[in-house]
Amino acid sequence: MRLKGKVAIVSGTSSGIGKSICERFAAEGAQVGMNYRLGGKLDAKGAQAAAAKMGPNVIPVEGDVSKRSDVERMIQEMVQKCGRLDIAVSNAGIEIKRPFIEVTDEEWNKVLSVNLYGAFVFTQIAARQMVKQGQGGKIIYISSVHEDIPLPEYTPYCVTKGGIRMMMRNNAIELAPHKINVNNIAPGAIATPINQSVLDDPEAMKKATSDIPLRRFGTSEEVANVALFLASDEADYVTGSTYYIDGGMTQNVTKY
Ligand code: NAD
Repeated sequence: MRLKGKVAIVSGTSSGIGKSICERFAAEGAQVGMNYRLGGKLDAKGAQAAAAKMGPNVIPVEGDVSKRSDVERMIQEMVQKCGRLDIAVSNAGIEIKRPFIEVTDEEWNKVLSVNLYGAFVFTQIAARQMVKQGQGGKIIYISSVHEDIPLPEYTPYCVTKGGIRMMMRNNAIELAPHKINVNNIAPGAIATPINQSVLDDPEAMKKATSDIPLRRFGTSEEVANVALFLASDEADYVTGSTYYIDGGMTQNVTKY
């Protein structure tokens, strides 16, 4: 039980990586706030059922990360129910594929508000709670290999992930005096709903996996393994780092 006695909140847990992180944290003894957003993949009933499946220590918390008042309420809810907050995983994210010269203001603002403003507000409010408690904490951002590697036709997405990289590096320094560790996980190609169109297209899969030295997509459970390490006491001396989980994709320099 590597997270026994800890209280965590994970954003964007209706599917994919966030869901696996929730499951893994709960299995390791944490009380976990499972954030979902109305109008997303789960309604309140679906979120209750998903949480119950993960165990009695999983608490569904509704809220849109791009709204400060929602995030304040979500974190308050966890603190009221569990008495504290030790771990925050900023995972919620969206992407829109569009050539740069065609991106609209609406598309730009939508991606920026969920991925970058959402990550800012979620981790800022979590950090304030951790600072108030005075016992440290762990903040983990789920960024992407595209915090560093360009991805044509996904400019707003790449901008948000590059921004998260700098937010993490800055916060690692600012929050270190409070013993709050701040790190990024940068997944490569992971088999989740965000990649459904590629997963459903054998030709696209062949092309995508040919760029990955390990020649396969990763699983959301493999991302959760690293999140568990970063959330645990084992990572007390780890801060300001990005952990790539990409089957070697970022090292495949011949492609770029
Ligand atoms: P996913 O689509 O299954 O998960 C995204 C989650 O974010 C969903 O549960 C969705 O409901 C939630 N969400 C979206 N907008 C929200 C909002 N405003 N408020 C709260 N929740 C919101 O895809 P995933 O692959 O599990 O993505 C999780 C994270 O991992 C994202 O930040 C994504 O950019 C990142 N990532 C994924 C991959 C990959 O290959 N799957 C690669 C790199 C980075």
